[in-house]
Amino acid sequence: MSKIINLLNKIDPVDLVEFLAFLDLFGYIKNRDYKPEDYLKKKELQKDQEKENEKENENEIEIENEKNVSECELHLPKLHYFGNSLLFLAHKSLKSTASALGLQITNKNNSILQLSKGNAVLKVYEVIELTKNIEDQLHQPSVFDYPSIVNNLIKSVKHWFLANFDYLQGIGLETIYATENQPIGEEWSVEPYDMAFCGGGDFGNEIGWPNADNFLKVKTGEMIIERWEQKWAVKPNRVYIDFWYRCWLAISHEFVHCVQSKLKQVDKTVLNWSAEHDASFLAHTILIGIAKQERELLEKEKKEEKEEKEEKEEKEEKEDNKEKEENGIPVLFQRPGFIELLMLQGLEIAQTDLVLFESDPNSKVDETYRKWIDSFGLEGPGENEELEDGTEYYLKSRIPMEGIRFDIETIKKQVDTCLKNRTGEVHLIELEPPKGVKIEDEIHGIKNFYKSIKEDDWKKTYQIFLNSEN
Ligand SMILES: [Zn+2]
Repeated sequence: MSKIINLLNKIDPVDLVEFLAFLDLFGYIKNRDYKPEDYLKKKELQKDQEKENEKENENEIEIENEKNVSECELHLPKLHYFGNSLLFLAHKSLKSTASALGLQITNKNNSILQLSKGNAVLKVYEVIELTKNIEDQLHQPSVFDYPSIVNNLIKSVKHWFLANFDYLQGIGLETIYATENQPIGEEWSVEPYDMAFCGGGDFGNEIGWPNADNFLKVKTGEMIIERWEQKWAVKPNRVYIDFWYRCWLAISHEFVHCVQSKLKQVDKTVLNWSAEHDASFLAHTILIGIAKQERELLEKEKKEEKEEKEEKEEKEEKEDNKEKEENGIPVLFQRPGFIELLMLQGLEIAQTDLVLFESDPNSKVDETYRKWIDSFGLEGPGENEELEDGTEYYLKSRIPMEGIRFDIETIKKQVDTCLKNRTGEVHLIELEPPKGVKIEDEIHGIKNFYKSIKEDDWKKTYQIFLNSEN
């Protein structure tokens, strides 16, 4: 145990987050199984049930134990698109993290990945233990540099909007800035004031964000962390990791709110369902757009370098990277598999909410969602409508995934539909989303992201782990 902690200390936290995502693909750690608002009810229920089910549990535990001592296996044919893409693109860093932990990624039966130590394949319980060790390592403040992520990402989004959309020039996007929300620390104030990301304040200039590193500094720090875990974390014990993902995934949404404000868009509904629709719809697709641009830039640079037949010295490259970061283009977007890592988490967040509502046959939340997306946000849940617990999370976590597009022309059309020539009361402006922009269930529905990939795709992933050195 102490040995693994010493090893974990030396590994870059982003490498660890990525490795954790890899371990999650083995499927041994479950997502949280309660709706955000249901947490306390669930806790009470659990207490009662635990007593009643003690005997049944004993049998289950035996079966669990049997499973836990079998060899760990990651079945590549069962992977979905983002899982496979992450493995394929990030294979180098995954292998190097494994190696730093004294492990190798090995293969079995031409379709299964395993983790081994020397000649011994890790057992399921060992993978679970390793997962928990990594979670513990990252479950502390000051592991991640949140302010730098938020500030650089704002610069990136700004840069991307200005470079791609003429009509957004000259409206003052340059002055958008980040402010850390200060936790007030009173019990009544914990939500939403301490916890939420928000955008559009100060005449569309301000993006407010909660810094998880401050949570423990206030009186009710433990409680803030617990609330965060209830409301946001996909898996328990991952507040700081979850928060790292949130910083990446939330800024583009809040930035859109700033643009809406600068364009003087007005949404007459009290809960701003149209504004929320557009910001959520564009959130992930903007990140894909930025990542695509960054990767193309990198490819171009590589090609040029090759042509010039000049080998850059490592020192120069580092300086180059530093300069890029200062220009507001996070180098992480050029990291192979990085955007896939983020989208994988986006999918997990959406899927967690989806599954919880699906298990309730009386839930009308899917109907509410469809009405909302079919009207392109103009018909949200009514003001006086009583909403099921967690509806807002469901709506706002599902649509960013279904809004994902991969080709830059369609991504631009999406942005245009939400922002171009849209000033004033949005309900009064005619709106006809062009083809490819509207969410069509057969093509963009979230279930499609969970479909298994084609044989050719996972075989490529297998080959890449098989052929190169561990
Ligand atoms: Zn919002």
